[in-house]
Amino acid sequence: MSDLADLEPRPLWRYFLELSRIPRGSRNEAAAMRWVAEQGRALGCAVEQDAVGNVLLRKAAARGGEGRAPVALQVHADMVCEKNEGTPHDFERDGIDVVRDGEVVRARGTTLGADDGIGVAAALAALADPELRHGPLEVLVTVDEETGLTGANAVRPGWLAAKVLLNLDSEEEGELTIGCAGGVDTVATRRVTRAAPAAGSVPLRVKVSGLRGGHSGTDIAAGRGNALRVLGQVLAALAAGGGCELASVRGGNKRNAIAREASAVLQVAPGRAAAVREEVARQEAAWRAALGAFDPGLSVAVEPGSAGPVLSPADAQAVVGLLLAGPHGVEAMSPDIPGLVQTSTNFGVFETRDDAVEANFLTRSSVDASKSALAARIAGVCALAGFETHTTGGYPGWKPEPGAPVVKLVDGVHRELFGKPMVVRAIHAGLECGLIGEKYPGLQMVSFGPTMWDAHTPDERVSIASVQNFWRLLRAVLERV
Ligand SMILES: [Zn+2]
Repeated sequence: MSDLADLEPRPLWRYFLELSRIPRGSRNEAAAMRWVAEQGRALGCAVEQDAVGNVLLRKAAARGGEGRAPVALQVHADMVCEKNEGTPHDFERDGIDVVRDGEVVRARGTTLGADDGIGVAAALAALADPELRHGPLEVLVTVDEETGLTGANAVRPGWLAAKVLLNLDSEEEGELTIGCAGGVDTVATRRVTRAAPAAGSVPLRVKVSGLRGGHSGTDIAAGRGNALRVLGQVLAALAAGGGCELASVRGGNKRNAIAREASAVLQVAPGRAAAVREEVARQEAAWRAALGAFDPGLSVAVEPGSAGPVLSPADAQAVVGLLLAGPHGVEAMSPDIPGLVQTSTNFGVFETRDDAVEANFLTRSSVDASKSALAARIAGVCALAGFETHTTGGYPGWKPEPGAPVVKLVDGVHRELFGKPMVVRAIHAGLECGLIGEKYPGLQMVSFGPTMWDAHTPDERVSIASVQNFWRLLRAVLERV
């Protein structure tokens, strides 16, 4: 441990190592939150905890900073619990085995929890720093960021006094995050009726596989194939040829992942099987040409299926129609941040059951009105195919304001300290700032942090030098803001 004890800045690392001894997987943060509250009390802060477990520490301004506007540091206490196979670590009971490995800090066999333990440690170190000339300072530590943004979602209006919020949950030194996407789930359902397949028909399974998939937000503009869309087009072509009845369709695993695989079982009239195979091969070639290097592994295959009742012709037409027409992909790019997707949707999951069909879309936008507009269009398309829809789990986005004073301030401090501007960016995925900002109109927010790699995996590691630079930037910003 001696090499860990030498890490600079010492207070930050001391807090990080202490926190790392407390198990704190998402939804298991109670002990970590007690520890945060204890540290706050020891530092002379007013401490409050809300009903979901979020803790707010408030510290009066350092001498001379009394008249300044309050600033909040915001971090999350929970971590993702992943370990290598064979690692005998119990995330409910064991502390993280933190090790120094050359220029980085990592954990033995597990996630490190630098996401966002370094942010928590930096916020406490700021409260503890006797030299730091800060104004009134708030530290908001949230619970359960990783599995549902539950803590941020529950932060109540009026709790924070801050006019500026610095979120310390970013993973690339030199980057300043100034926006994120909100999201909403659409669930579409249709009741279906079934009948026995035509006498003598043969069950065949059409299977789409080999696609890369990916995150439904951050990978949505990567040009990758959606297995449901591919399957929809194949099924439409087969339906046009006649002699096929549709028994089932299933594809995609998660609403927030691009569908990598999908399959359908058809009852095919005798004598039509060869034509089905030919059409599938034509469709496969067309899709492979269209996707090209974006998604080179696509395969569309025909294999034997198991026989079962088929959908009524009207239901089959509705299913194929929605697979063909269901929105998927980028709807609009950001006018403020080059290359940022502003609005998109992911046609993520489709499944036929005995008496119903269900489809799922996850729509994202950094502009809430655009998110609602696209969700309304999805509902319209679903209605045309005879599906009923409802939306769930909506959360707001955070619209980038590149010209906001806090963006200029942090970027300016970074130029002074490191001689170069920050890379100002926004992400097409959810962040806690979106949920918090919704309840605090006019609150200026940015997010930054040190460089870490492979967060959420047992290879998670954080750059020691970059933690030092992150700390210098944070300190200097807190003296200026
Ligand atoms: Zn995080």
